[in-house]
Amino acid sequence: MSVSPRETKATCPYCGVGCGVIIQSQGDDITGVRGDPDHPANFGRLCTKGSTLHLSAQRTIQWQTRALYPELRNSKDAPRQRVAWDAALDHVAQKFADCIRTHGPDSVAFYISGQLLTEDYYVFNKLAKGLIGTNNLDTNSRLCMSSAVAGYKQTLGADAPPAAYEDFDHCETLFIAGSNTAFAHPIVFRRIEDAKKKNPGMRIVVVDPRRTDTALQADLHLAIQPGTDIALFNGMLHILLWEDLVDLDYIGTHTEGFAELKRTVRDYTPAFVADTCGIKAEDLQTAALWFAQSKATLSLYCQGLNQSSSGTAKNAALINLHLATGQIGKPGAGPFSLTGQGNAMGGREVGGMSNLLPAHRDLANPEHRAEVAALWGVESVPEKPGKTAVEMFEAVRNGEIKMIWIACTNPAQSLPDQKVVHEALRKAELVVVQEAYKTTATVPYADVLLPAATWGEKEGTVTNSERRITRVNVAVPAMGQARADWDIAVDFARRLEHTLRPGQATLFPYQTAEQVWNEHRESTRGRDLDITGLSYRILETAGPQQWPMPEGATHGKVRLYEDGIFPTANGKAKFVNTMYTQVAEPVDARYPFRLNTGRLRDQWHSMSRTGTVPQLFAHAPEPSVQMNPNDMERRQIGEGSLVYVTTRRGSQVLLAQASEEIAPGQAFIGMHWGPEFVSGTAGHGHAALGVNALTIPALDPSSKQPELKHAAAKIVKADLAWSYVVFGWLPQERALEVQQALREYMPRFVYASCVLFGREKIGVLFRAAAHEPAPEEVRREIEAHFGLDRAEVLAYADARKGNMRRLLVQQDSLQAVALAGDLAAEGWLKEYLQNGQSVASLRLLLLMPTTKPPAGFHARGKVICSCLNVAESEIAETLEELSGPPEALLSALQGTLKCGTNCGSCVPEIKRILLQKASATTQ
Ligand code: SF4
Repeated sequence: MSVSPRETKATCPYCGVGCGVIIQSQGDDITGVRGDPDHPANFGRLCTKGSTLHLSAQRTIQWQTRALYPELRNSKDAPRQRVAWDAALDHVAQKFADCIRTHGPDSVAFYISGQLLTEDYYVFNKLAKGLIGTNNLDTNSRLCMSSAVAGYKQTLGADAPPAAYEDFDHCETLFIAGSNTAFAHPIVFRRIEDAKKKNPGMRIVVVDPRRTDTALQADLHLAIQPGTDIALFNGMLHILLWEDLVDLDYIGTHTEGFAELKRTVRDYTPAFVADTCGIKAEDLQTAALWFAQSKATLSLYCQGLNQSSSGTAKNAALINLHLATGQIGKPGAGPFSLTGQGNAMGGREVGGMSNLLPAHRDLANPEHRAEVAALWGVESVPEKPGKTAVEMFEAVRNGEIKMIWIACTNPAQSLPDQKVVHEALRKAELVVVQEAYKTTATVPYADVLLPAATWGEKEGTVTNSERRITRVNVAVPAMGQARADWDIAVDFARRLEHTLRPGQATLFPYQTAEQVWNEHRESTRGRDLDITGLSYRILETAGPQQWPMPEGATHGKVRLYEDGIFPTANGKAKFVNTMYTQVAEPVDARYPFRLNTGRLRDQWHSMSRTGTVPQLFAHAPEPSVQMNPNDMERRQIGEGSLVYVTTRRGSQVLLAQASEEIAPGQAFIGMHWGPEFVSGTAGHGHAALGVNALTIPALDPSSKQPELKHAAAKIVKADLAWSYVVFGWLPQERALEVQQALREYMPRFVYASCVLFGREKIGVLFRAAAHEPAPEEVRREIEAHFGLDRAEVLAYADARKGNMRRLLVQQDSLQAVALAGDLAAEGWLKEYLQNGQSVASLRLLLLMPTTKPPAGFHARGKVICSCLNVAESEIAETLEELSGPPEALLSALQGTLKCGTNCGSCVPEIKRILLQKASATTQ
């Protein structure tokens, strides 16, 4: 029986831009995805990640990666067994009840996620704080947005980004601080590009230690030393006071606390600030004048400010500038924090953190606690703040917390100082993991695995960076026995109630997501985010809405604080007396590099979903550390050679990659490269744990957000005598299982990585290096996964030199290759394999101990446009034929190669190539 194709409205689950998508499906299969032309965040556009969502949703892929049924083990050393939902949830309810009875409610904890929908978040929050009576509920948003929350609350009185995306069209100065918007929020960047095109007079200032693609588009790039943002913002205010450019009327009428700050910034002279930040005093002056003198200044900021041991103060110092100049509450103006995750905002709204309560209420406020207790129908809500993310895992490690429930997040990859996290997970009495993917680094620690529904299978709501709530609908049924997150939490809560509230009516009477959301809606009545005028039906008929939208309102509010009245006791915003402090771990002679981590363009978080789409690896194919070319030269580190990156907490071997984006003395690693994709022992005998083996758990005192953006590191060449690489095509229905199987081998080497490549076909690449050659049987086992154990394999070995080559050729095309010792032929062999080029005429060369590629071979180089598969070399060749100004060259390239004409995510990088060409021509 044929089933008709359907289209379902939802959102992209990745970043906080919150793009609307239309999911195309047929039967149980998601067959395509396109941007929703009516969604006010993206108007039909999607970036590389969003536009490949359907590829990660293919059933052949998902059968290999999804958690499909509940699993349980009765002892830590036993394997998990498949069980029924009832058995799994009864077991956990019994364990939790016993633990709570014996050790108190604070002996259990929940660690949840900004990827959950608002309804999921709401139920988990009520379960922990309302039913169990613990505030030990925190979220991975703590790693992402908690400094923005604290910054808004300390200054403006509520956690509410006051601006909207349409403000890009009204601003005269756009001040981007600590955000590589071009990579991390690509559709916002498209909107900025459009705004600049419409208004060429609009000035863009970018504050970032790296010369990112975002910084390259700036009229002024302030490449400050990492962590010196507060000195910069205070220095700008110093200049504005000196130049008489502060708005004294606004300050007098709408704010308080300016006098103290004024005294502080007196010391932030241009000379001091220029020296501290490592920028020119003239540039500081220009930035200050543009900020104050423009008709409307909008600031955009993200993890560069938030992920810091002084993240709250950085946020506040920037907001101080807006208040001092009156650049707030009018079109095109205001401090606008970009949210990292798809629904971090929704989580904040329902109070899904250890110090928050629903609808922006504070745990520390007794009236707020009483209001929430009344709403939930419980006696009280506990007063004692719960553990925040980093503290929570420390408490698990030291035995204070005995049982932890982790939902929709991967702490064994994403938290800083991974050694502690892995120790904690090993030590916990019970680890419950509620997760859609069985492939994450956290799942092996699960004593109970609860399969969760994921994108396309769930309904509810999300809120994006501009306070816009969107309805998310179900396109296909959940796979296997997976269930919606809120539904799992409700089922568990009702079982726990039998012990904790015997004989009483349930606190969790919900049958549908809508019933959960309606209760959340009621909690907002009279609050700054009041959405009592909204309903699921209105969201479906009138489309996504920004909060607040109280009863009686016909639409949401675009911009906040237009009347200059703030949600504080006296209606006035508060200046915070911000002072510059050093990073938690300054560099020194032993650890001289400033190590930064952050997003890559085409990957999302720990890659459980994007890491299943081969074409998303084309832009950054393998884990690497980016360094300034001069630093590499000085240390005799060649491009692509292996280096030890070591901090006081751990070490990870990585490929070195030269990048002009990186200033001397600094280094950058993509935050995505966890132990699922890069590992080894780094020579210490125990597993290296990816990028966050290196990062520091130092916390901001207010927000408790860790300093993921700065650690002191040393980087030295890794002289590993033996190198090894295997790559090849694998059947789609088996490739990810093979990748998973190969991960088991990674701890046997000092360095090992395992990634995908390809487009229509899936390739797997396994790379390793060690001091000694791997035992023959280990190599044979690895190669067997690629069919390199077959009789027809072409083989060459030079035992004396330790070189080995094995090739599987079928119908004159390479299918798989293994190389050990000398890897110099890897580049051209991989391109022949990828392009499916005939190797019939190369039979001799294939096995000759030569490093030379075949005559006429040209390497394609890095893929710039991953949608249309356009590589660096093709752009360079086309440019040789062209001349003219960069804008004309961009159009010509787009006309010829079509690069950047689909999602546009690569346009900033193409512009970088054009700028390089222009500067080479003028030299
Ligand atoms: Fe998804 Fe990209 Fe839109 Fe972010 S910008 S929501 S990742 S499509």
